[in-house]
Amino acid sequence: LLQLFIPLNFLGILYRSIKYALVDMDMLFRLLEQTPEIQNAPDAKTLLIEDASIHFDNVSFHYQPDRPILHNISFTIPQGHKVAVVGASGAGKSTLARLLFRFYDVTGGSIRINGHDIRTVSMASLRAAMGIVPQDTVLFNDSIYYNIAYANPQADEITVQNAAKIANIHDFILQLPQGYNTLVGERGLKLSGGEKQRVAIARAVLKRPKILIFDEATSSLDSKSEQTIQSALINVASQHTTLVIAHRLSTIIDANEILVMEQGHIIERGTHSILLENNSVYANLWRLQQEEQRE
Ligand code: ADP
Ligand code: MG
Repeated sequence: LLQLFIPLNFLGILYRSIKYALVDMDMLFRLLEQTPEIQNAPDAKTLLIEDASIHFDNVSFHYQPDRPILHNISFTIPQGHKVAVVGASGAGKSTLARLLFRFYDVTGGSIRINGHDIRTVSMASLRAAMGIVPQDTVLFNDSIYYNIAYANPQADEITVQNAAKIANIHDFILQLPQGYNTLVGERGLKLSGGEKQRVAIARAVLKRPKILIFDEATSSLDSKSEQTIQSALINVASQHTTLVIAHRLSTIIDANEILVMEQGHIIERGTHSILLENNSVYANLWRLQQEEQRE
């Protein structure tokens, strides 16, 4: 019996890891198109972290040598703090997240976590420390329960539901015809952009990463789902070192520092109130979004 059981169990694990790999690949392809092979340094160490502080130190980057993308980017996110990045499309915001996840290596300067250059630690330990809520979340053709729980297959039902509560998606799930067993994805119930992003937040909560990267969806959300995502994010981010790429400035009023990017440069930085006092690019953007909301 034992002999029969082990292979079956193994198949289950294999099935899960293939699914897991598929999503990672999918995300990879979508994020990257042509990625050079980033590899572990021969003497790569395991990144062991209780807390995580992040330093971008004079980081420059290009995808192709003739087209620089990032220029001398420096900022620090102390443990538990939140730094937000705003700026027009193409400014280089998502590239910052890709470099932190080490989809690419910097071409100048360095990125350090707790003082360790991320090129010197193993990729597995680096990525285990991070949770990404991407702009566009991929769902499996499986139950919504599975779609949340796969982030941590050891989690029990109560833990999974708690993650959904923190992400403000639990009540929505209970209203579905089959609750947590409802099939979603291409062949099941189609979820809206905002609902998918909340599933991704629930996954991140369940993974409990030290570092949370949140790339806010650009697609327009109605103001109610914008608010639920916003408060979900505030719930989650309070426990992590967080990098938020934001389009709606109302999401990031509480950030410890806001970086305003233009064509790969940081052109303005500070807290929300300091940037309003500066009365420059950020303040203009803020006024514009306030007016849009009133319309
Ligand atoms: P943002 O997130 O601020 O909209 P990105 O960081 O995605 O901007 O992109 C910054 C710039 O890098 C853009 O001009 C984009 O066209 C370019 N870019 C992004 N990904 C690649 C890639 N894989 N190869 C070449 N250029 C890229
Ligand atoms: Mg982007």
